[in-house]
Amino acid sequence: MLNRHYKYLLFLFMVLAGCKDTDVAPQQSTKPEQEHLLLGNPSGATTSESNAGNYLMLKPQYALSYSRDRGTPNWVSWHVSPDWLGTADRQDNFRPDPALPESWYHVTANSYRNSGFDRGHNTPSADRTSSEEDNAATFLMTNMIPQAPENNQQTWANLEEYTRELVEQGMEVYVVMGSYGEGGTGSNGRATSIDNGNVTVPARIWKVLVVLPQGDNDLQRINTSTRVIAVDTPNNNTVNADWGTYRTSVDAIESATGYDLLSALSTQLQQTLESGVDAGPTR
Ligand code: MN
Ligand code: MN
Repeated sequence: MLNRHYKYLLFLFMVLAGCKDTDVAPQQSTKPEQEHLLLGNPSGATTSESNAGNYLMLKPQYALSYSRDRGTPNWVSWHVSPDWLGTADRQDNFRPDPALPESWYHVTANSYRNSGFDRGHNTPSADRTSSEEDNAATFLMTNMIPQAPENNQQTWANLEEYTRELVEQGMEVYVVMGSYGEGGTGSNGRATSIDNGNVTVPARIWKVLVVLPQGDNDLQRINTSTRVIAVDTPNNNTVNADWGTYRTSVDAIESATGYDLLSALSTQLQQTLESGVDAGPTR
């Protein structure tokens, strides 16, 4: 019944999109808006080009809200499960995102050169090793922020590593990463922007993880005892390598950004899960 309902919606979508039945691969995987935005669209991003500050981009590998004027994503959301982890090599093919509206500035592989900031992945390369294509998707510049090297290579790398460890331990994780504010300190000192002003250097970098045992019907399985980890870190080179020291509540990140995180959950469940601060293991 549910399956028939879904097929009908798909049919309706194809009619509206004006495509033929044959355009759709028979073994199509879950749509990104269903998988990567399962917990919601934090800023109400839309695919309208006039929404240049909050432009929704849906990729098979992750979903994001892009800011044309910042030249970075506002946030990127993705699911990490065994399906996404394989043996594909790191592709290292940093490149402009051809999916951006043509008239917008396209950040390039060289935009961060000599800036003192790393091309910091939001969706990490190592979270997308199921195929070369999936890994290559993480090297689109719409997935990058100018990240202080210490933050990227220590604090953030440790948190990314821990996330995949959780998956190895039998969990699956829904991740949202974002950045806000202006001005960070990289290896050449403080900067508010790079690439002739085309890319804003964020002041803060945050992440929210929702951790579940591997299984089905993920949204329905989230309850008051689900582990939620929220961190908010400074974008500088004196940041502590231990991400655990930056743990905060989801509520605090919502206040700082104006977003509504975990909006797909009931108000009551959000109230409980968003007010807590994680105290679990960090490695
Ligand atoms: Mn990184
Ligand atoms: Mn919320």
